[in-house]
Parts: sequence; C-alpha cells; structure tokens
Amino acid sequence: MRLLLWGLGVLVLAIGAFWLWVVWPSGGERSERRGPNGAPEAPTVAEIAPPLVAAPALCVGREAGAPGAAAANAASLSTLAWAPFGKPEIGWEIYALRIAAELGTSCAAGSDGFAAALARWQAANRLPRTGVMDAATFAAMLPRWHLSRPFVRLNRDGICPGAPAEDALAMARPEEGHGGKTIQLRPAALEAYRWMAAEARAAGVLHRPEALRIYSGFRAPDADAQRCARDRNCQGLTRTICSAHRTGLAVDLFIDTAPGFGPDSSADANRLAMARSPLYRWMVWNAGRFGFVNYVYEPWHWEWTGEPLLPGTPIASLSQDGAERLTEPAEGSTARTPDAASGARSRR
Ligand SMILES: [Zn+2]
Repeated sequence: MRLLLWGLGVLVLAIGAFWLWVVWPSGGERSERRGPNGAPEAPTVAEIAPPLVAAPALCVGREAGAPGAAAANAASLSTLAWAPFGKPEIGWEIYALRIAAELGTSCAAGSDGFAAALARWQAANRLPRTGVMDAATFAAMLPRWHLSRPFVRLNRDGICPGAPAEDALAMARPEEGHGGKTIQLRPAALEAYRWMAAEARAAGVLHRPEALRIYSGFRAPDADAQRCARDRNCQGLTRTICSAHRTGLAVDLFIDTAPGFGPDSSADANRLAMARSPLYRWMVWNAGRFGFVNYVYEPWHWEWTGEPLLPGTPIASLSQDGAERLTEPAEGSTARTPDAASGARSRR
C-alpha cells in the first residue's frame, strides 16, 4: 500500500513537471509575441529600420483622465470642427488610431484610458494637461509624424531626392498591382512590402481581394513633370515637382474604400472608411516593423525607410512649370496636401 501511494506520488509529480514544462515557457513567450489584434508578431526588422511606433500598452480602462475628458473625446470624435490640413473637417476619427499609437495606448478614443494617456502626452509636450483631443495637441503631433519620413526631412532642407535608374528597379508581380497596373519599386522596398503583405495575410486583416495591392509605386520624375506642365495643376510641390514616388520607395496601397469611392480618394468619408478598417489598424501598429511609415492624411500612402534616399538636387532648381496654380483637387484625386512635400510645407 505504501509502495502504491509512493508510486502515485511520483506519477503526479512527473505529470505536474511535464505540464509546467509544456505550458509555462511557451505560453509566456506566445503572449509576449502577440500584437494588439492578437496576431502573432513577425521577427523584428530593427536591423532594417528602427520601430517607428511603440508597442501598444494594454488599455487600462478604469484609469481616470481629467474629469469629463473621456466624454468630451467621445463626443468630439465625430463633431470637432477644425482644419488640421487646411481644409475644414468634422471630427478626428480618421486620425484616432494614429493618435493612439502616438500615445502608446490601445484604449478606444472615447475611453478613460485614452484620456489619461493623452493627458500624460500633453504634459510631456508642455501642453495643457486636459486629456481632451484638440487642434493644438494634433498640431504638436503632426511634425513628429512628418519627420518620421526621411523624404520630408530632406524636403525640409530644400532638397528633392534623386530617382533611381529604371533598370535598378524591381517589377512587382501582376497580382501585386491593383487593376493590372505595372508597379516598379526599389528591390529591397518590394521585398519589405512582400514580407509585410504576408504578415498581414497571416494576421487575417485582408478582407477584400484588392487589399494591400499596390496602385502606385515608382513614378518617373520626367513623366510627372510633363503631366504637371500639361495639366497646369501640380498641386504645388507635392505631386509632380518633387513627389515621394520618384524615390522608388513610396507605395500607394489599397486599404479600403467607402461605397462609390476609389482607393485614393481623399474624401473624408473615404478616408474614414480606411481608418475604420482592420487593415489600417494593423498597419498603424505593425508597418513600422517592416520599415514603412505613413503620411497620416493619406491612409494609403506609405514610404519605406530601410534604405537611404538617393542624393538629390535643390528643389528650387527643378522646373516649376505648372506649379503656380494651386487649384482645389477634384474629388477622387489625391488631396491638396498629398503624397509628399506637403508635410514639410504644412509644417512651416
Ligand atoms: Zn502616394
């Protein structure tokens, strides 16, 4: 009997030890390596580019912000009347994910946790610690986001980066281009895109067949300049005189669309549809791991930062033909602050 009890004891201990061995280490590791949406995280690409957004902290929902701040944010999310990019907009939901990433919180925009994180950020940036989202706080965040783009940093110094020779570009596969478009990128940028797209697919955030397809990559400066002069509408610097797409590192990606809009329409309803998509949420938190940074006004426009820009020329030395007329862009075109140097301009 005593032998039987002893045997049972050993058996229980052995099973317990085995269970601990199986569950403990791998369980702990798995929970650390999950993204905000529960998707497994890929290996870091810190050797390519440093992470550009912080990993999200858990939302601490009961943490108190300033009194009433959460309610104010919940209301202003869809009612704030402002002009963050020069044209009137209502609400700030389009930018809420990017703001949350800046704050390092996964809390929803109308929550106490978000308000508390915002109050901390405001205090750290010498703004009134209200916990309430407002134009002044956004204006303090915007330069940080612009300056995460090497292209904007170079533009700020009056330089337009050089364009790669076409034979130095890689061609995307037909199924990677949207609508059968031929897409060229610098080879390493294309590789990074493919890695990111595979991870997005694995994370289950590609809900539409077109999701994450590229509809614009490298655009030759000459062709852009000719169109600029022909159409007499360059949108200033942004589209044609010095577009980020000349670098072979910028991509316009299909994120999502509102009914009746194209993937590059800057109509607020369309940008809001993108901002609400699981894909954009995933991109905001994860694209930095692959070296991509976003121009926040355009949820579709991403620039790869894994290789240096090519030596450039002074912007003042480039043809300004067609740039003198700044007309309001048609609905469905890229916006008045699109795709490029606008970041540097709007900051000044
Ligand atoms: Zn673009």
